Amino acid sequence: GFRSARRIGAIGVSEILKIGAVAARLKREGRPVIVLGAGEPDFDTPDHIKAAAEKAIRAGQTKYTTLDGTAELKAAISGKFLRENGLAYAADEITVGAGAKQVIHNAFMATLNPGDEVILAAPYWTSYADMVQIAEGVPVNVVCREENGFRLDAADLERAITPRTRWLLLNSPSNPTGSAYSQAQLQPILEVLKRHPHVWLIADDIYEHLIYDGLPFVTAAQIEPGLKNRTLTVNGVSKAYAMTGWRVGYAGGPKELIGAMAVVQSQSTTNPSSVSQAAAVEALTGPQDLLAERCAAFQRRRDLVVDALNAIDGVTCRRPEGAFYTFASCAGLIGRRTPEGTLIDSDSAFCRYLLEQHDVAVVPGSCFGLAPYFRISYAASEASLEEATGRIAKACEKLA
Ligand code: PLP
Repeated sequence: GFRSARRIGAIGVSEILKIGAVAARLKREGRPVIVLGAGEPDFDTPDHIKAAAEKAIRAGQTKYTTLDGTAELKAAISGKFLRENGLAYAADEITVGAGAKQVIHNAFMATLNPGDEVILAAPYWTSYADMVQIAEGVPVNVVCREENGFRLDAADLERAITPRTRWLLLNSPSNPTGSAYSQAQLQPILEVLKRHPHVWLIADDIYEHLIYDGLPFVTAAQIEPGLKNRTLTVNGVSKAYAMTGWRVGYAGGPKELIGAMAVVQSQSTTNPSSVSQAAAVEALTGPQDLLAERCAAFQRRRDLVVDALNAIDGVTCRRPEGAFYTFASCAGLIGRRTPEGTLIDSDSAFCRYLLEQHDVAVVPGSCFGLAPYFRISYAASEASLEEATGRIAKACEKLA
């Protein structure tokens, strides 16, 4: 019979996918379910980017490309890092993969030996832990408390470092909390890393352009140049340019690491799609005014959701600095019962109740490593966000 490899043994089907499956079934049954689980902007890819892809197809850019990114795209990425982050990366310090996800996967596959540890700041994007495990590493969770703005505490980080630690993975602005680090908040973490030269850093900056209230975005290699030679600065076009389906992500880092990552990619997917790479060149070098427009739209939605949630008895929600997620506490609801008598004993039970009785799909915080919370993705229209938060309020009122 079938036997799976040990390296995927610990990785189950995520609860997020199960919630999605239930939501899809309810929709098929005709229920007006609103799903606030998406990890992608609801906007379309801008027209000038689509046009660049069409042009590339007609110009015959339909063949294999250089393994880890075309010269044109690497130049565009190099320009982006310099322009937006003050970071100088040469072509051999840049890699391009099929999404930031493949880039991070490549980094782990290229560097982890069985048992090597990767420190994750919980709550975190669930894929991180699974990717570490597929690479036969060990995810080490450090919990970031709400009192600390869901940010990693430097002393907690230092306690988690062992001789087997290879990486710290930081994500700002964060999925699922929306928290972002200012320079002052990031500095103490970087000071810890400076004291532990065997620990490298992945900065997942994928939500860079979704940061609100005029807050400046900062990334580690920029504010601590001394760490640049052991930092992988990861980014991509998925979230900023509404290009999730094109599958282009990239990173800048030391050339030995970039070279090792290319080895992994060369024996898995080869190069990212030639057409998508041409589109990404246009995204990074073409007009950028859409970024601010879309960012403003997301900020309005954030405020709509946060204000609506904070008006609900039993729910509290920190106003996040970025990304398109809110991470609200439902601690005040734990111990209450539904009209049918079901005990709300966890965030999962609360989310199940919301979905099954009130047609709103959100994700429990426990999926990301911190309970009792729930994550709302506000990458949805203001009308559906108003309707959904109204349903959540009604659902909470019915709990006793
Ligand atoms: N990093 C984080 C924190 C994410 O939430 C996501 C997508 O959901 C990614 C990386 C991956 O983005 P992509 O592979 O589309 O570039």
